[in-house]
Amino acid sequence: MSVKKLILLSLAALVLPAGAQTKRIAIIKADDVTSVNPKWERFFKLAAEHDVPVSAGVIAVSFEKQDEKYDEWLKKWEATGKVEFWNHGWDHRMWEEEGKKKSEFGGSGYDHQKSHLTKVQAASKEALGKPFNTFGSGFNAMDSDTAKALNEIPELKMIFCYPGAKPTKEMKDKILLPMVLRGENDGTGKPNFAKFKEEYEKKKADPNLTLSSIQFHPAAFSEQGFKDFASIVDFLKAEGWTFMLPSAYAASIGK
Ligand SMILES: [Zn+2]
Repeated sequence: MSVKKLILLSLAALVLPAGAQTKRIAIIKADDVTSVNPKWERFFKLAAEHDVPVSAGVIAVSFEKQDEKYDEWLKKWEATGKVEFWNHGWDHRMWEEEGKKKSEFGGSGYDHQKSHLTKVQAASKEALGKPFNTFGSGFNAMDSDTAKALNEIPELKMIFCYPGAKPTKEMKDKILLPMVLRGENDGTGKPNFAKFKEEYEKKKADPNLTLSSIQFHPAAFSEQGFKDFASIVDFLKAEGWTFMLPSAYAASIGK
């Protein structure tokens, strides 16, 4: 290679920001909506102020426990076009059976899982006027029964998961939304911008890093948590990431 060519190549590398070569898409996955909570309200407002759409998982037993004000609140936020709600299971339970840890979508069996998924979809239709289009399980636990049950529910098109999660290989016609980037580096409900950035710097050169859902638990945010969340989304935008809702992402890839 000539020196001139080498210099030109080096210049191109300097001029192009990391996000310019590949389009990078982030989907905010906020978990555990169960009530009209001031922290959720604040989270939705904050995200809108930062021009970031957010998706939020509803634990659907809440439709039974709360009154119609809850449904109206969810509908109000969804009508803004900046928030999209998804199926986060019926009860988010975890229990022990014969010495084995089980959860709503982990080891609980096909019948249990299928009935919970369909119950949530029906509750959403009744409360919000439409079924959910995306699923994310409690504790992100999934097994072969989850895959089988989800394959029978085509309206659940998008699935939040860990990258490479085993049962996702058994899922048909699903759009996977893997959590490649970790939103809460200090544990559940505790984002930490400095640590997020540190982890991101190690991953950002990977050309396969084109899509990541990012998990948060806003109802557990402290004052600092809200600040760190805002710093994380501002930082990613500056890095060239585009934030999308699950349905917009599906549409963007023609599905
Ligand atoms: Zn959850």
